[in-house]
Amino acid sequence: MSQSNIPTTFVLAPNLLSPSAPQTEAPRPAFPPPNFLADEALADVRWSIGGALLYDNAVIEFLKFVRSETPAIHIRDVFGAPPAQWTLDWYAMRRLIPPGDFTASAKKIIELQVDFSLDFDNPFITEDRLDDVVGNTCLRSLSTARNARIYVASEILANYIRKQFPQFKLHAGANKVVAENGQGDLDYYCRSAEKFETTVLHANDATDTAFLEKLVARVPADKFEIVVNDTCLRNCPLRREHLDALSKIRNAPWDASLLQQRHALLGRAGCENVIASPDNATGRASMLTREEMKRAYALGFRNFKIQAEKLRSEVAFFWELGQRILSDKPELWHKKSAFIASAVNNIHAPVPVLKSGTSAFVLRKYD
Ligand SMILES: [Zn+2]
Repeated sequence: MSQSNIPTTFVLAPNLLSPSAPQTEAPRPAFPPPNFLADEALADVRWSIGGALLYDNAVIEFLKFVRSETPAIHIRDVFGAPPAQWTLDWYAMRRLIPPGDFTASAKKIIELQVDFSLDFDNPFITEDRLDDVVGNTCLRSLSTARNARIYVASEILANYIRKQFPQFKLHAGANKVVAENGQGDLDYYCRSAEKFETTVLHANDATDTAFLEKLVARVPADKFEIVVNDTCLRNCPLRREHLDALSKIRNAPWDASLLQQRHALLGRAGCENVIASPDNATGRASMLTREEMKRAYALGFRNFKIQAEKLRSEVAFFWELGQRILSDKPELWHKKSAFIASAVNNIHAPVPVLKSGTSAFVLRKYD
């Protein structure tokens, strides 16, 4: 059945149609005005979404969806990076990605008029890891890309890229602030703002309105970015230790004792209880509420990021994109649901099939 024969009453969810759906010759009503699912309370936010080289299908489907239905929403860039010495994998160690696949992924994003950002999120990089073949290959292949943004979590890596690839603009990722104990430190952020195009705020600072007020009194809000969906515990006491553990695993992926240590750490912090915990005070993740997003917006923050690596499936990531970026008005939920369900149907091969019947949606624990 061709697209032109789809009954117009079903146009919100064309992929839910069965091939035997009745056809009609009735004239098509006017298509819903574009942008009605955009959230005017967060107008002109510059969204930065993760998932590149992790959940590419979801990213591409979401970009196409926004382009056609809600073009007022500005997806500024898509970020991600392949497994490399300069990056971390939060749950499963990903397989190595051939350079050609990296280039093809980046190209698909750039062809949709969205910037591509490399996110080198390992803060503990030593000089002897600067010759990493994957990281260097990625930089070379993006060296002529329009507006390519490079996020780093390490001063050593930042200095290396400035010297070897001076064409790139550098941004400081959230893991850099965590690793350098910059949380709550106005002077730290001021120094970072001088050295980097933007700095991603520590999750604890992003939810602290009093701190944000003091920050924008010293540096323009545009110099900072806010991750709206960090799934670690609010005020997690072990953020730096999490990163240290992941970095050690990256250096010695064959060492099973490191995996055990990391798991013990998660248990000690209680970070894995954020979904199951009935206690919203102590078991609460660093997910910003809509009110917190609007408070940051009112202070002038416009660079919002949605991360993917801590969400355990492509569908969960897609759902998060829809919930965060589209309008939260209850009277539009039916339309929003129809759009999201339609687009989810286009995501192919979401995640490897595990034994659990619900594996594609949630728990994916390889460690
Ligand atoms: Zn934690």
